[in-house]
Amino acid sequence: MKDSQKINIIGGGVAGLAAGIYGRLNGFDVTIFEMGQRTGGVCNSWEIAGYNVNGSIQWLVGSAPGIDFYKMWKELGVLDDMDFHYHDSFIEYKNIQGVDVHFYTDPNRLQQHLLSISPVDARLIGDLIHNIKLLSEANLTIGRAFDLLHAGNWTKVFTENIFGADVLEKYNHMSVRNFAKKFKSKIIKKAFENFWSPDMSMSFMLLQLSYAANRIAGYPIGGSGRFMEQLTKRYTDLGGKLVLGQKVTKILIEKNQAVGIQTEDSICHYSDYVISACDGTTVLLNLLEKNRADERTMDAYRTLETFPSLVYFSAGINRTFEEVDSSIIGLNIPLDRKLRVGNFKHQRVSFQIYNFDPTTSPLRKTLVTAILDSDYEYWKKLHDQGEKPYSKEKSRIGKELLKNLEREFPGISGQVDFIDIATPITYEKWTGNHNGSYKGWLPTPESTKTKISRHFPSLKRFYMAGHWVATGGGLPPAAYSGREAIQEICISEKILFEADTILK
Ligand SMILES: Cc1cc2nc3c(=O)[nH]c(=O)nc-3n(C[C@H](O)[C@H](O)[C@H](O)COP(=O)(O)OP(=O)(O)OC[C@H]3O[C@@H](n4cnc5c(N)ncnc54)[C@H](O)[C@@H]3O)c2cc1C
Repeated sequence: MKDSQKINIIGGGVAGLAAGIYGRLNGFDVTIFEMGQRTGGVCNSWEIAGYNVNGSIQWLVGSAPGIDFYKMWKELGVLDDMDFHYHDSFIEYKNIQGVDVHFYTDPNRLQQHLLSISPVDARLIGDLIHNIKLLSEANLTIGRAFDLLHAGNWTKVFTENIFGADVLEKYNHMSVRNFAKKFKSKIIKKAFENFWSPDMSMSFMLLQLSYAANRIAGYPIGGSGRFMEQLTKRYTDLGGKLVLGQKVTKILIEKNQAVGIQTEDSICHYSDYVISACDGTTVLLNLLEKNRADERTMDAYRTLETFPSLVYFSAGINRTFEEVDSSIIGLNIPLDRKLRVGNFKHQRVSFQIYNFDPTTSPLRKTLVTAILDSDYEYWKKLHDQGEKPYSKEKSRIGKELLKNLEREFPGISGQVDFIDIATPITYEKWTGNHNGSYKGWLPTPESTKTKISRHFPSLKRFYMAGHWVATGGGLPPAAYSGREAIQEICISEKILFEADTILK
C-alpha cells in the first residue's frame, strides 16, 4: 500500500496537520489544501509594530505527562524544544470594592482562599475541591476512535477512571451558572459566573480545573505561531505536501464514494480518501451534495449552540507590568460602565498581560490582549454598511477598554504602541468558521449528549475532523479527531495504525 493510497485533506489548521502527520506516519501520500497563505487557521499569531500577537493558545492541555494528549503532542512533534509556562492561577478576579477572588490552580490553596471569603459555603467548596482532585487522578481520554473500541478497551477505560467518570456524569447536566447559584457568598457566585461562559457544562469547568491542578496544561512560550511552526515542520519533514492559497469548493463523489476535491480554479485533485478539517457547516451545506449527512447530524448543526463569536483586542504597551501575577485567563476587572460589543453587554473583561512571554514583545514592552464575546450578525451588518462605521465601532471599543485599563494601570494611555481589534468578520475571513466562531460547539448539557457524525453510511472514503466534530473544541480534541480519521482509514485498508502508543 505504502504511498500508493492518496489522501486529500481540506484545511491546514491543527486538525488537518495532525491528520496529515498521522497519514504520513502510516505511509499514505498526503496533500493538505489550505485556503490561507499559511497554516494554523484559528490558531495563529501575527506581527504588529514589532509585537508578536498571540491569537489563540492560552494553554495547551497535554503539555506535560499525566494525560494521553501528552503522548499525542509528542507524536506530533510539538513538544520538542518548546518551553512551557505554568500559571499559579486560572483567573484573577478583581473587585474594586471588597475581596479579590483568585482561582488558584493548586486545589488546597484554592480551598483555603474560598473558605476565607465564605466560611458558610464550606460544604460546597469542599465538594468542589474533592471533585477537582478526583478528576485530577483520572485519565479520561482514550487512544482510539470511539467506534473502534472493543470491549477490552472500554473495560480498561472505566475501571481506571470509575470515580472521575462518575463526577463527569453528575455534572454533565448542570451549567456553571446553576452551580454558581448554590453559593451563599455573592462574591464567589459572581466570580464563578464570570469564570468563563456561564452556560458551559459544569463538568467541563471541573475538567479544566483538574488539568490546571495537575500542571499538565502549560502556555507554550512563543504562543500560537511557534506551536504551528512546529506542527507544520513535522508534517513537511515527513514528506507531507502542502498547497497554500487554494480554496476547496467541492468534494468529488462517484458511486457514493469520495474520490477527490475540486479547488476554486476548477482543477480536480483525485485521491483515494478525503478528510475535511475545516468548518463543518461549509462542508455539509456547500462542499458535499445535499442529503449526504444523516438527519440527526444536520439537526445538531441547526440547533446546537456554538462558542460565541469573538472580538479580540490586542495592544502593544511600552511598560513591563512586573506587579501583575500571571494567570491562564488573565486579570478579570470590572468596567466603569457596561461595554456594548455587538448585542452583548460586558460588565467585566479579562486582560491577558503577557509579562510571562518575552517573545511576544520588544524588550521592556508588553503585549496585552482581551477576548470579548460578541455576535456575528451585528458585525456582519456593520461591515456591510462600509469600512467607515465598521472601523469607528472597533475604535470605540478599543478606547473604552483602554480607559478601563487606565484605572488599573495609571499612565497606560500614554504608553500605547498600537491597538488592534479583530471581529467575527475577521475570523470568518481568515478561517471560514461558521459565524466567525472560534471553537465550534459550546459544551452545554445539551451538546454533550449529542453525537455528531464524522462520516456517513451513504458516503464511503470520507471523514471529518476538527473542532466541529469534537464538542468543546480546542487544540487537543481537534488534533485528536485528525488522528482518529487516520485510524479509521487504516482499519478500512486493513493495516495496523502506527504511532498507536496510547492503549499499549
Ligand atoms: C482567542 C482564542 C483562544 C483560544 N485558546 C485556546 C486554548 O487556550 N487552548 C486550546 O486548546 N484551544 C484554544 N483555542 C481554540 C483552538 O485554537 C481551535 O479550537 C483550534 O485551533 C481549531 O482547529 P481546527 O483545525 O479544528 O480548525 P481551524 O483552525 O478553523 O482550521 C481550519 C482550516 O481550514 C481552512 N479552510 C476552511 N475552509 C477551507 C476551504 N474551503 N478550502 C481550504 N481550506 C479551508 C482554514 O483556513 C483553516 O486554516 C482558542 C481560539 C481562539 C480564537
